[in-house]
Amino acid sequence: MLFDRIAELTREMRAAGADLADSAAIERFRITYLSRKGHIAGLFEELKNVAREDKPRAGKELNALRETAQQILDAATERLANDTEAAQDMLDVTLPGRMSQRGHMHIVSRTIEEISDIFRRMGFSIADGPEIESDYYNFEALNFPADHPARDMQDTFFLDDEHLLRTHTTPVQIRLMERFRPPIRAIFPGKVYRNEVISARSHVQFHQIDGLFVDTDVTFADLKGTLVTFARMYYGSSLKYRFRPSFFPFTEPSAEMDISCYLCGAKGCRVCKYTGWLEILGCGMVDPNVYAHVNVDPEKYSGYAFGIGIERTAMLRHGFDDIRLLLENDMRVNHQFN
Ligand SMILES: [Zn+2]
Repeated sequence: MLFDRIAELTREMRAAGADLADSAAIERFRITYLSRKGHIAGLFEELKNVAREDKPRAGKELNALRETAQQILDAATERLANDTEAAQDMLDVTLPGRMSQRGHMHIVSRTIEEISDIFRRMGFSIADGPEIESDYYNFEALNFPADHPARDMQDTFFLDDEHLLRTHTTPVQIRLMERFRPPIRAIFPGKVYRNEVISARSHVQFHQIDGLFVDTDVTFADLKGTLVTFARMYYGSSLKYRFRPSFFPFTEPSAEMDISCYLCGAKGCRVCKYTGWLEILGCGMVDPNVYAHVNVDPEKYSGYAFGIGIERTAMLRHGFDDIRLLLENDMRVNHQFN
């Protein structure tokens, strides 16, 4: 009886051994036949029921059975190792290639580039300044009164009593006028920071391009000519425009520039708040109080300044309604601007 079982198990193991193609199958084989609760251990248990005279032969055959099982297991393990190595060496030239993704400029960087390019063609150079500014450059030299709300902790990230994260790129105009005598004609793109609640409309970090032109006999007509040229080159030549009086501490007079809403053909829509107009920038003639801080003679020189919000421009141009989409690296957004 036991001898029949041994013969049967030997055949079964040899058959199973041919199918041991992966490590899971090999482990299953080990558990089935060679583990402490496996078939072979079970047959060893039956050894005590075998007639005394048959015991030596039974023991011998059981040991041989166990050895056979171990050989099948070792052979399968070695075969698998060799197969894996061969597979790693193999190169299947018929497989389709992996697409490599081309990088591209973020829409904020591209907007800065496009706007800078237009002003560069009009003779403006590009300037830069620090993002950590002193109160003097960010506010005082730009004629912000001591009690101006922008100087409040509510709106500005102060680092200590004297230093802050700049709230606009306008301080660069002070740094330029300190270093160079007029004529000065430059734009200065960069990051700015405001202590605001993050929402679809506002963020704590965004970008601006400020511009400055100071020379003899610069007039408001020069300002209009330059900014209208910019708006037509950037937004299209058919649009209407208007300048509305406004207020900034560092310009006098100050204005905001609107263009006719190209989304609705100036008929009125949600984006233009049903006015038919879109505000695109702030501007004005440099205030004489600013010249006083940089020793430029306001009798001899005059100039204009302007500031453009980059995210707002990109949102208008490309139809975004949430500023957070431009700052949160959602690849579904970024991929749309390949
Ligand atoms: Zn509209």
